[in-house]
Formats: sequence, C-alpha cells, structure tokens
Amino acid sequence: MTQANRWIREEIRHLSAYSVQDAKGLIKLDAMENPYTWPETLRVEWAEQLQNTHVNRYPDPHATELGEQLRAAMAIPPDMAVLLGNGSDEIIQIIAMTLGSGHTILSVEPSFVMYRMVATFCGLEYVGVPLKPEDFSLDMPAMLQAIEQRQPAVIFLSYPNNPTGNLFNAEEIQILIEAAPGLVVVDEAYAPFTQASFMSQLGQYDNLVVMRTVSKMGLAGLRLGLLAGREAWLKEFDKVRLPYNVNTLTQVSTRFALKHKAIFDQQTQAICQERERLLSLFNQLFGFKAFPSQTNFILLRTPDGEAEKYFNGLKDHGILIKKLCGSHPILRNCLRPTVGTPEENAAMLQALLAI
Ligand SMILES: *Cc1c(COP(=O)(O)O)cnc(C)c1O
Repeated sequence: MTQANRWIREEIRHLSAYSVQDAKGLIKLDAMENPYTWPETLRVEWAEQLQNTHVNRYPDPHATELGEQLRAAMAIPPDMAVLLGNGSDEIIQIIAMTLGSGHTILSVEPSFVMYRMVATFCGLEYVGVPLKPEDFSLDMPAMLQAIEQRQPAVIFLSYPNNPTGNLFNAEEIQILIEAAPGLVVVDEAYAPFTQASFMSQLGQYDNLVVMRTVSKMGLAGLRLGLLAGREAWLKEFDKVRLPYNVNTLTQVSTRFALKHKAIFDQQTQAICQERERLLSLFNQLFGFKAFPSQTNFILLRTPDGEAEKYFNGLKDHGILIKKLCGSHPILRNCLRPTVGTPEENAAMLQALLAI
C-alpha cells in the first residue's frame, strides 16, 4: 500500500477528476463559453486599467466596489446579503463545507455535476432525483418524497438546467422551497439567456438563495460567482470563504467589464438568435431531436446509436462539442454543442452535413 493509498479518503480515490477535454487547435463548442472576444478599443482601455493596478498588496477582501456594481447589474434586492466566490463552483463548495457530516445534498439528475462532486469532496450524502425523461421537467412526487425521506440540508436547482437547457416550472420550485427543511440554492448560471429568475423572490422565503456567475455572460476566464440571500445564511458561509478568494485582477477586470455591460448584452442577444437558428436547423436537417433551450447550448438527441459517430466526426472536422451519452440513462444518444459565432456554427453545420 502506498502512502497516498493509506491516507487519502477512499471516496476520493474512487472519484474521477472533473475532466476538461483537450481543445488544442479545435473550434471550442464544448464548455458554454461566450465565443466573442472584446473589441480592440475596449481591450486597450482595459490594459490601461491593469497597468495602473498593483498586485503587491492583497486584494480588497470584501470586493466592496465590485459587490455594489454586481448588485446593480443583477438587480439584487437591497436588503439581501451578497457573497462572492472564485467562480460559483467555489460557492457550491463553501456551502457544502458549512454542512455537518452525515447531512444530505439533494439535486436532480441529470444536472450540473459539481453538486454531486462537491458533496463527495466534503463527505456528504448526495441524492439525485431523476427528471422526467420525456421533457426533463421536475418529477414532483419523487422530489417531495425524497425531501420527506432524506431531509436534505441543501437542494441545488439549476435554473435553467445544465445539461438539458430547460427551465423548471416556477410554481413547482416554490412548492419545493416550501417543502424543504433546509436551504434551496437556485443556480442561475444561465441568467443572461433567460428572463426567468428567482432573484426578486428572495424576500419571500427564509430558505432561498440565488447563485449567479459572470462566466456564461462572457467572463469565464475571470472566475467570479456570487450568492445573494439572507444575512443569516450568508454570514455563516462567509466564515468558511478563504480570505482574498477573489483576486485583484478579477475585481478590476470585472468592474471594467460591467461598465461596458451593453457589449456583453449584445453578444448574449446574438447568441440567443443563433441558438434559435441552430435549433430549427438541427431538427430539420439531421433527424436530430433538438430540445428547446433557455441557455447558450443545445441538447440534442441523435438517432439511436449515432451520437458517437457525430461526436467523433465533428472532432475529425476540427470541432469539439460535449458528448453526454453514457453519462446518464436519460441522456441516451445525446450531445451538447455550445452556441458559437455564426462562422463557428456554420462550420459545425457543414461538418454535420459531411458526416
Ligand atoms: C457553468 C455552470 C456553473 C459554474 O460557474 P462558474 O462560475 O464558472 O464556476 C455553475 N452552475 C451551472 C449550472 C453551470 O452550468
């Protein structure tokens, strides 16, 4: 037995690391990134700001100014507290770390894999209640039964859901918030692509918090997520947050980007238009079933047994998407391309025709 085997927890040794596909030289449509870079003028202005930014000191530990800007940009109710994280991934981890051992995290399946992974990191139980296979909606009787039986400390709901792209029914989520014995985290990572949000409902529930990120709006490289909710929860989470978790360059750069939010809103609109165009072409041309999406990706189902062929074929044509078949029975024959620029999408469609 090696030393690592002796001391590393068994559940960690059995875990596979979160895998990121090698995208070198490929058109990258696998990770829900905004495909647009910043206009030249903006990059020059940004570089000037960075030139006058000093990194010899630690960052503002509370990122106060950035927090205020985010409150305005994301319409966070004034009486709610805000916690910033190094990506919303870190916030999921912070929440899980505050829970006592033996407690349970509940989510739906398929959904964002970090809920399950972080539960494992922190030695917590995880329950994933399957969505309804036909339309990926919440299976309410199963959800309510799981809540009753497992008494989860936290429920994570991705709204819209990754990787299915749909919004759950808002009234059903309200029923779950009311039935939950603990906290409900509504993860609004895809907020830029939908009107729906629970942000304005924070005041109505003691046990609701809303999580956001700047990643999907076009700042994935900066790593910044936030949690909005009642002080009673957030002040406890804040104790577990490592000091200086949001670095100086992220604070300065996000503040700069938010001043130019109109540009990101335009990019987001262009992505939504392309999404609708792709969706209808996927359904017309390839015998795929492409599911409606409120996000910047499209879940599609290929004819039986053909997902692998399309995934590999696209890769041979220089295009990387995400293969979901094999990850969950509900995602049989499923692929998930992220919406790219019109040029990237055209290349994907051409490649699919060739395949
Ligand atoms: C992408 C994604 C996140 C992660 O966001 P980061 O802020 O980049 O860590 C969280 N939740 C869902 C549902 C996502 O799809």
